[in-house]
Amino acid sequence: MPSALLIPPESLARVADALAALARAGLPALEARMLVSHVTGLSRVQLITQDACAVKDAARRRISELATRRLAGEPMAYLLGEREFFGRMFRVTPAVLIPRPDTEVLVEQALDRLEERDAPSVLDMGTGSGIIAVTIALARPDARVWATDASADALAVAKDNAQALGASNVQTALGDWYGALAATGAPSAFDLIVSNPPYIAAADAHLGQGDLRFEPAGALTDNGDGLRHLRTIVAGAPVRLAAGGWLLLEHGYDQGAAVRALLAEAGFADVFTVQDLGGQDRCSGGQWPAENGA
Ligand code: GLN
Repeated sequence: MPSALLIPPESLARVADALAALARAGLPALEARMLVSHVTGLSRVQLITQDACAVKDAARRRISELATRRLAGEPMAYLLGEREFFGRMFRVTPAVLIPRPDTEVLVEQALDRLEERDAPSVLDMGTGSGIIAVTIALARPDARVWATDASADALAVAKDNAQALGASNVQTALGDWYGALAATGAPSAFDLIVSNPPYIAAADAHLGQGDLRFEPAGALTDNGDGLRHLRTIVAGAPVRLAAGGWLLLEHGYDQGAAVRALLAEAGFADVFTVQDLGGQDRCSGGQWPAENGA
Protein backbone atom coordinates (compact mmCIF):
# COMPACT_ATOMS: atom_id res chain seq x y z
CA MET A 1 0.00 0.00 0.00
CA PRO A 2 1.64 3.30 -1.06
CA SER A 3 2.05 5.65 1.91
CA ALA A 4 1.64 8.93 0.04
CA LEU A 5 -1.81 9.60 -1.37
CA LEU A 6 -1.48 11.27 -4.75
CA ILE A 7 -4.86 12.93 -4.45
CA PRO A 8 -5.66 14.88 -1.26
CA PRO A 9 -8.85 13.38 0.23
CA GLU A 10 -10.07 16.87 1.12
CA SER A 11 -10.24 17.69 -2.60
CA LEU A 12 -12.93 15.00 -3.02
CA ALA A 13 -15.73 16.78 -1.14
CA ARG A 14 -18.53 16.08 -3.63
CA VAL A 15 -19.01 13.46 -6.32
CA ALA A 16 -18.25 15.95 -9.11
CA ASP A 17 -15.07 17.07 -7.30
CA ALA A 18 -13.93 13.48 -6.88
CA LEU A 19 -14.43 12.65 -10.57
CA ALA A 20 -12.64 15.85 -11.62
CA ALA A 21 -9.72 15.28 -9.22
CA LEU A 22 -9.21 11.70 -10.42
CA ALA A 23 -9.27 12.88 -14.05
CA ARG A 24 -6.70 15.59 -13.26
CA ALA A 25 -4.50 12.96 -11.62
CA GLY A 26 -4.51 11.05 -14.91
CA LEU A 27 -7.15 8.37 -14.39
CA PRO A 28 -9.31 7.56 -17.46
CA ALA A 29 -12.90 8.79 -16.96
CA LEU A 30 -14.37 5.28 -17.01
CA GLU A 31 -12.00 4.05 -14.30
CA ALA A 32 -12.68 7.16 -12.19
CA ARG A 33 -16.43 6.50 -12.41
CA MET A 34 -15.92 2.81 -11.55
CA LEU A 35 -13.86 3.63 -8.45
CA VAL A 36 -16.18 6.37 -7.15
CA SER A 37 -19.22 4.22 -7.81
CA HIS A 38 -17.61 1.23 -6.06
CA VAL A 39 -16.71 3.20 -2.93
CA THR A 40 -19.83 5.38 -2.59
CA GLY A 41 -22.33 2.74 -3.66
CA LEU A 42 -23.84 5.23 -6.13
CA SER A 43 -24.76 3.81 -9.54
CA ARG A 44 -23.14 5.25 -12.67
CA VAL A 45 -26.37 7.12 -13.40
CA GLN A 46 -26.46 8.51 -9.85
CA LEU A 47 -22.91 9.80 -10.30
CA ILE A 48 -24.37 12.10 -12.93
CA THR A 49 -27.76 12.91 -11.40
CA GLN A 50 -26.38 13.32 -7.87
CA ASP A 51 -23.01 14.85 -8.67
CA ALA A 52 -23.41 17.47 -5.92
CA CYS A 53 -23.80 14.72 -3.33
CA ALA A 54 -21.23 15.01 -0.47
CA VAL A 55 -18.63 12.24 -0.21
CA LYS A 56 -18.08 11.08 3.38
CA ASP A 57 -14.61 11.37 4.95
CA ALA A 58 -13.92 7.63 5.01
CA ALA A 59 -15.03 7.31 1.37
CA ARG A 60 -12.81 10.22 0.32
CA ARG A 61 -9.81 8.51 1.85
CA ARG A 62 -10.71 5.19 0.27
CA ILE A 63 -11.16 6.74 -3.19
CA SER A 64 -7.80 8.48 -2.86
CA GLU A 65 -6.14 5.22 -1.78
CA LEU A 66 -7.60 3.16 -4.61
CA ALA A 67 -6.82 5.84 -7.21
CA THR A 68 -3.23 6.05 -5.95
CA ARG A 69 -2.86 2.28 -6.29
CA ARG A 70 -4.44 2.36 -9.76
CA LEU A 71 -2.00 5.07 -10.87
CA ALA A 72 0.80 2.76 -9.68
CA GLY A 73 -0.51 0.11 -12.10
CA GLU A 74 -2.66 -2.21 -9.94
CA PRO A 75 -5.37 -3.82 -12.08
CA MET A 76 -8.91 -2.44 -11.72
CA ALA A 77 -10.27 -5.94 -11.14
CA TYR A 78 -8.16 -6.36 -7.98
CA LEU A 79 -9.01 -2.88 -6.70
CA LEU A 80 -12.74 -3.49 -7.17
CA GLY A 81 -12.52 -7.17 -6.21
CA GLU A 82 -14.65 -8.23 -9.15
CA ARG A 83 -14.75 -8.69 -12.91
CA GLU A 84 -17.57 -9.53 -15.29
CA PHE A 85 -17.43 -12.74 -17.32
CA PHE A 86 -20.15 -14.11 -19.60
CA GLY A 87 -22.59 -11.52 -18.23
CA ARG A 88 -22.03 -12.33 -14.54
CA MET A 89 -19.93 -10.66 -11.86
CA PHE A 90 -17.20 -12.87 -10.42
CA ARG A 91 -15.25 -12.13 -7.27
CA VAL A 92 -11.50 -11.90 -7.91
CA THR A 93 -8.50 -11.53 -5.61
CA PRO A 94 -4.78 -11.32 -6.37
CA ALA A 95 -4.71 -15.12 -5.85
CA VAL A 96 -6.42 -15.65 -9.20
CA LEU A 97 -5.95 -14.69 -12.82
CA ILE A 98 -8.22 -11.83 -13.90
CA PRO A 99 -10.98 -13.19 -16.18
CA ARG A 100 -10.38 -12.31 -19.84
CA PRO A 101 -13.15 -11.90 -22.43
CA ASP A 102 -11.13 -14.20 -24.74
CA THR A 103 -11.90 -17.12 -22.42
CA GLU A 104 -15.58 -16.76 -23.36
CA VAL A 105 -14.63 -18.40 -26.66
CA LEU A 106 -13.53 -21.54 -24.78
CA VAL A 107 -16.78 -21.58 -22.80
CA GLU A 108 -18.89 -21.18 -25.95
CA GLN A 109 -17.07 -24.09 -27.59
CA ALA A 110 -17.56 -26.17 -24.44
CA LEU A 111 -21.31 -25.47 -24.33
CA ASP A 112 -21.65 -26.33 -28.03
CA ARG A 113 -19.91 -29.71 -27.55
CA LEU A 114 -22.08 -30.50 -24.52
CA GLU A 115 -25.32 -30.00 -26.43
CA GLU A 116 -25.30 -33.61 -27.59
CA ARG A 117 -24.76 -35.04 -24.07
CA ASP A 118 -27.31 -35.46 -21.26
CA ALA A 119 -26.23 -34.92 -17.63
CA PRO A 120 -22.59 -34.53 -18.70
CA SER A 121 -19.60 -34.78 -16.38
CA VAL A 122 -17.15 -31.92 -16.86
CA LEU A 123 -13.64 -31.27 -15.55
CA ASP A 124 -12.14 -27.75 -15.45
CA MET A 125 -8.48 -27.91 -14.40
CA GLY A 126 -6.71 -24.82 -13.09
CA THR A 127 -10.06 -23.20 -12.45
CA GLY A 128 -8.69 -20.04 -10.77
CA SER A 129 -11.67 -17.79 -10.06
CA GLY A 130 -13.90 -20.58 -11.36
CA ILE A 131 -15.26 -18.65 -14.34
CA ILE A 132 -15.19 -21.59 -16.74
CA ALA A 133 -16.58 -24.19 -14.33
CA VAL A 134 -19.28 -21.92 -12.91
CA THR A 135 -20.42 -20.59 -16.29
CA ILE A 136 -20.75 -24.11 -17.70
CA ALA A 137 -22.49 -25.33 -14.53
CA LEU A 138 -25.06 -22.52 -14.67
CA ALA A 139 -25.72 -23.03 -18.38
CA ARG A 140 -26.12 -26.77 -17.81
CA PRO A 141 -27.79 -27.44 -14.44
CA ASP A 142 -27.91 -31.13 -15.39
CA ALA A 143 -24.09 -31.26 -15.56
CA ARG A 144 -21.75 -32.27 -12.75
CA VAL A 145 -18.70 -30.04 -12.87
CA TRP A 146 -15.37 -30.66 -11.15
CA ALA A 147 -13.10 -27.67 -10.68
CA THR A 148 -9.48 -28.15 -9.63
CA ASP A 149 -6.61 -25.86 -8.78
CA ALA A 150 -3.15 -26.29 -7.28
CA SER A 151 -3.66 -23.12 -5.21
CA ALA A 152 -5.86 -23.37 -2.11
CA ASP A 153 -6.38 -19.59 -2.17
CA ALA A 154 -7.58 -19.74 -5.77
CA LEU A 155 -9.87 -22.68 -5.03
CA ALA A 156 -11.46 -20.72 -2.18
CA VAL A 157 -12.31 -17.95 -4.65
CA ALA A 158 -13.79 -20.49 -7.09
CA LYS A 159 -15.87 -21.97 -4.28
CA ASP A 160 -17.14 -18.51 -3.25
CA ASN A 161 -18.11 -17.75 -6.83
CA ALA A 162 -19.91 -21.06 -7.28
CA GLN A 163 -21.86 -20.43 -4.08
CA ALA A 164 -22.60 -16.73 -4.72
CA LEU A 165 -23.84 -17.46 -8.24
CA GLY A 166 -25.84 -20.52 -7.22
CA ALA A 167 -23.84 -23.15 -9.10
CA SER A 168 -24.53 -25.99 -6.69
CA ASN A 169 -23.39 -28.53 -9.30
CA VAL A 170 -19.73 -27.48 -9.00
CA GLN A 171 -17.39 -29.51 -6.83
CA THR A 172 -13.83 -28.35 -6.11
CA ALA A 173 -10.64 -30.39 -5.61
CA LEU A 174 -7.17 -29.17 -4.63
CA GLY A 175 -4.09 -30.38 -6.49
CA ASP A 176 -2.04 -30.51 -9.64
CA TRP A 177 -3.88 -31.30 -12.87
CA TYR A 178 -5.30 -34.86 -12.81
CA GLY A 179 -3.62 -35.51 -9.46
CA ALA A 180 -6.28 -33.33 -7.83
CA LEU A 181 -8.89 -36.00 -8.58
CA ALA A 182 -7.21 -38.79 -6.59
CA ALA A 183 -9.27 -39.84 -3.57
CA THR A 184 -12.27 -37.74 -4.64
CA GLY A 185 -15.51 -39.18 -5.93
CA ALA A 186 -14.79 -37.85 -9.42
CA PRO A 187 -15.98 -39.96 -12.34
CA SER A 188 -13.42 -42.14 -14.09
CA ALA A 189 -14.47 -40.81 -17.51
CA PHE A 190 -15.55 -37.25 -18.28
CA ASP A 191 -17.65 -36.04 -21.20
CA LEU A 192 -15.62 -32.85 -21.37
CA ILE A 193 -12.25 -31.71 -20.04
CA VAL A 194 -11.45 -28.00 -20.28
CA SER A 195 -8.53 -25.92 -19.12
CA ASN A 196 -7.05 -22.46 -19.45
CA PRO A 197 -3.64 -23.41 -18.08
CA PRO A 198 -0.60 -21.17 -17.55
CA TYR A 199 0.79 -21.03 -21.09
CA ILE A 200 3.09 -18.02 -21.20
CA ALA A 201 6.74 -18.98 -21.76
CA ALA A 202 9.14 -17.99 -18.97
CA ALA A 203 11.12 -15.77 -21.36
CA ASP A 204 8.05 -13.84 -22.61
CA ALA A 205 8.49 -10.10 -22.03
CA HIS A 206 4.72 -9.66 -21.50
CA LEU A 207 5.12 -11.10 -18.01
CA GLY A 208 6.75 -7.82 -16.93
CA GLN A 209 4.02 -5.64 -18.39
CA GLY A 210 0.60 -4.24 -17.47
CA ASP A 211 -1.82 -6.25 -15.35
CA LEU A 212 0.38 -9.35 -15.65
CA ARG A 213 2.89 -7.81 -13.19
CA PHE A 214 0.24 -8.13 -10.47
CA GLU A 215 -1.27 -11.51 -11.35
CA PRO A 216 -0.06 -14.77 -9.76
CA ALA A 217 2.97 -15.99 -11.75
CA GLY A 218 1.79 -19.58 -11.25
CA ALA A 219 -1.43 -18.80 -13.16
CA LEU A 220 0.40 -17.21 -16.08
CA THR A 221 3.62 -19.06 -16.88
CA ASP A 222 4.80 -22.67 -16.83
CA ASN A 223 8.36 -21.46 -16.20
CA GLY A 224 9.24 -23.31 -19.39
CA ASP A 225 8.48 -23.04 -23.10
CA GLY A 226 4.78 -22.31 -22.56
CA LEU A 227 3.61 -25.78 -23.63
CA ARG A 228 4.68 -27.73 -20.53
CA HIS A 229 1.26 -27.84 -18.83
CA LEU A 230 -0.58 -28.17 -22.14
CA ARG A 231 1.48 -31.34 -22.82
CA THR A 232 0.64 -32.75 -19.37
CA ILE A 233 -3.07 -32.09 -19.84
CA VAL A 234 -3.20 -33.61 -23.34
CA ALA A 235 -1.14 -36.63 -22.27
CA GLY A 236 -3.45 -37.45 -19.35
CA ALA A 237 -6.76 -36.80 -21.09
CA PRO A 238 -7.32 -40.04 -23.08
CA VAL A 239 -7.71 -42.27 -20.01
CA ARG A 240 -10.08 -39.79 -18.38
CA LEU A 241 -12.38 -39.07 -21.31
CA ALA A 242 -15.51 -41.01 -22.15
CA ALA A 243 -15.73 -42.30 -25.73
CA GLY A 244 -16.75 -39.31 -27.83
CA GLY A 245 -15.72 -36.88 -25.07
CA TRP A 246 -13.99 -33.58 -25.84
CA LEU A 247 -10.81 -31.90 -24.65
CA LEU A 248 -10.74 -28.10 -25.07
CA LEU A 249 -7.75 -25.94 -24.23
CA GLU A 250 -7.03 -22.24 -24.17
CA HIS A 251 -3.53 -21.30 -25.35
CA GLY A 252 -1.35 -18.46 -26.63
CA TYR A 253 -1.89 -16.76 -30.00
CA ASP A 254 1.18 -18.54 -31.43
CA GLN A 255 0.54 -22.00 -29.95
CA GLY A 256 -2.36 -23.19 -32.13
CA ALA A 257 -0.29 -25.40 -34.45
CA ALA A 258 1.69 -26.89 -31.55
CA VAL A 259 -1.44 -27.73 -29.55
CA ARG A 260 -3.17 -29.25 -32.59
CA ALA A 261 -0.07 -31.40 -33.13
CA LEU A 262 -0.15 -32.56 -29.50
CA LEU A 263 -3.83 -33.48 -29.81
CA ALA A 264 -3.36 -35.32 -33.10
CA GLU A 265 -0.33 -37.25 -31.81
CA ALA A 266 -2.28 -38.31 -28.72
CA GLY A 267 -4.98 -39.81 -30.96
CA PHE A 268 -7.69 -37.11 -30.86
CA ALA A 269 -10.02 -36.72 -33.82
CA ASP A 270 -11.69 -33.64 -35.30
CA VAL A 271 -8.85 -31.46 -33.99
CA PHE A 272 -9.62 -27.76 -34.45
CA THR A 273 -8.58 -24.25 -33.41
CA VAL A 274 -10.85 -21.22 -32.98
CA GLN A 275 -9.91 -17.56 -32.79
CA ASP A 276 -10.55 -15.11 -29.96
CA LEU A 277 -12.37 -11.79 -30.24
CA GLY A 278 -9.19 -10.20 -31.59
CA GLY A 279 -8.89 -12.80 -34.38
CA GLN A 280 -5.96 -14.66 -32.76
CA ASP A 281 -5.75 -18.44 -32.34
CA ARG A 282 -6.90 -18.98 -28.74
CA CYS A 283 -8.64 -22.30 -28.20
CA SER A 284 -7.95 -25.76 -29.63
CA GLY A 285 -9.63 -29.05 -29.03
CA GLY A 286 -10.32 -32.53 -30.18
CA GLN A 287 -12.68 -35.44 -29.66
CA TRP A 288 -11.65 -38.73 -28.11
CA PRO A 289 -12.86 -41.29 -30.65
CA ALA A 290 -15.73 -43.57 -29.80
CA GLU A 291 -14.50 -47.16 -29.52
CA ASN A 292 -14.35 -49.15 -32.79
CA GLY A 293 -15.53 -46.03 -34.55
CA ALA A 294 -19.02 -46.76 -33.16
N1 GLN B 1 -9.63 -20.80 -15.40
C1 GLN B 1 -9.32 -19.48 -14.99
C2 GLN B 1 -9.54 -18.50 -16.13
O1 GLN B 1 -9.77 -18.90 -17.23
C3 GLN B 1 -7.89 -19.36 -14.49
C4 GLN B 1 -6.86 -19.72 -15.52
C5 GLN B 1 -5.46 -19.59 -14.99
O2 GLN B 1 -5.23 -19.22 -13.83
N2 GLN B 1 -4.51 -19.89 -15.82
O3 GLN B 1 -9.53 -17.31 -15.96
